[in-house]
Amino acid sequence: GDFPIDLDTVVIGSGPGGYVAAVHAAELGQKVTVIEENDQLGGVCLRVGCIPSKALIQVSHDYQTTLHSADEGVAASDVDLDWSKVQGYRGSVVQRMTNGVAYLFKKNKIDVIHGRAFLKDQHSLRVMKGDSAQTYTFKNLIIATGSHPIEIPGFKFNGRVIDSTGLLELQQQPKELVIIGGGYIGCELASAYANFGTHVTILEGTDAILRNYEKDVVKIAQTNLEKRGVTIVTNAMAKSAVDDGNGVTVTYTLNDKEETVNADNVCVAVGRRPNTKDIGLEQVGIQTDQRGLINVDAQGRTNINNIYAIGDIVAGAALAHKASYEGKVAAEAIAGQKSVVDYRAMPAVCYVDPEIATTGLTVAEAKDQGLDVKSAKFPFSANGRAVSMHAPDGFVRLVFTKDQSQIVGAQIVGADASDLISELTLAIESGATVEDVALTVHPHPSLSEAIMDSADVGLGMPTNI
Ligand code: FAD
Repeated sequence: GDFPIDLDTVVIGSGPGGYVAAVHAAELGQKVTVIEENDQLGGVCLRVGCIPSKALIQVSHDYQTTLHSADEGVAASDVDLDWSKVQGYRGSVVQRMTNGVAYLFKKNKIDVIHGRAFLKDQHSLRVMKGDSAQTYTFKNLIIATGSHPIEIPGFKFNGRVIDSTGLLELQQQPKELVIIGGGYIGCELASAYANFGTHVTILEGTDAILRNYEKDVVKIAQTNLEKRGVTIVTNAMAKSAVDDGNGVTVTYTLNDKEETVNADNVCVAVGRRPNTKDIGLEQVGIQTDQRGLINVDAQGRTNINNIYAIGDIVAGAALAHKASYEGKVAAEAIAGQKSVVDYRAMPAVCYVDPEIATTGLTVAEAKDQGLDVKSAKFPFSANGRAVSMHAPDGFVRLVFTKDQSQIVGAQIVGADASDLISELTLAIESGATVEDVALTVHPHPSLSEAIMDSADVGLGMPTNI
């Protein structure tokens, strides 16, 4: 028989939303149980997203550096790219990080149940594993079931026609690769494979790749992708992929004309959908919008007061750090605290070459919000560290209010932009001004000096440009 087992706080999903929520809830004194259908903990991010993609990108840079350091006086011959070792490295990084989540659960006395959760009512759910099912009751629930790649008609996944997961895990390096979709996931993977020597074609349906970013930001990344041989076709509507056993022929339309391109693999990276179907939301009456995203308040609470939702299944950028942030707030809300989310300083990074990192508002977004803002820009070509690193491309741009010079946004394109952006996220978070940044002593020589220099530009008294 299926006798219910009583639980306290339950989290469905162990991705960056779920595992962080679980750890924080435990730290706040709750007894926490996580339900995860995958054998490995860590969700998309650790298993088949952020972490393995960055491992491949790192190795692809190492390979490029090894090949192209001759003008610095380091010439390598017979450089060997051992693809199975590359894949082994990716796997080992993933294993290490997912083990880390298991360690954190143990340390915080969090129980894990492996199986697929399905809601029954406001206080109970069922977990299915194979043929067995068990009912659990809960006091509070955090849903963090994440998202999955969208499939498009004409592109049935079959090993050659793959999603981002398939592309990360390819057992053979393709000579020719087609990526459908020029969003950040498509462009990051295009960049990595291009570095490895694969010829990549990006087919983008709209008139530009990386459409979330400003034109001058995208231009640098796009020029660099093209320099490494990536073919970028915009306004290309992908129609079908036909597998003839040796490869795939992709048909697309461009200006009403049919075109084809042949490849060893085709990756569909046109976006992701929330995992909110088939989890029993309707059993409880949890409301979603037209896209299937769960409606929540500023604490992550759904319309059912003891059930919360976080991460890729709620509105906003589908990013790991946003999921974790919401997870902490939901855990605090369950603990009775007054915490609410504030998305004013939310960073986003695209790990192409060079990296693109943004935080807060662009000039256009600030103006849309009725803010009277200015911007100041400083190029890495005037930064000694960047030049000595072979990385003179890109810039730092600050966006700040005209009257108070309060920083409300920033865009960085350049080496290590993903790390540099945090200084400016902190600036926004703490209400810092352009003067604050300009008066902060930055170590020399460092990439971070470009941030101080951009503040000097903002004050109208640049030293280094
Ligand atoms: P997920 O990480 O998707 O985790 C959800 C978990 O819930 C999964 O483990 C799943 O098995 C489990 N689950 C689902 N349904 C059930 C159920 N019914 N019962 C039990 N368990 C269930 N973001 C970044 O911020 N930076 C990056 O560099 C980045 N790179 C990416 C690269 C790629 C290739 C991809 C695909 C994504 C990338 N992302 C990146 C996005 C990031 O992975 C997601 O935003 C993040 O994983 C969302 O976290 P989450 O906790 O909401 O869900």
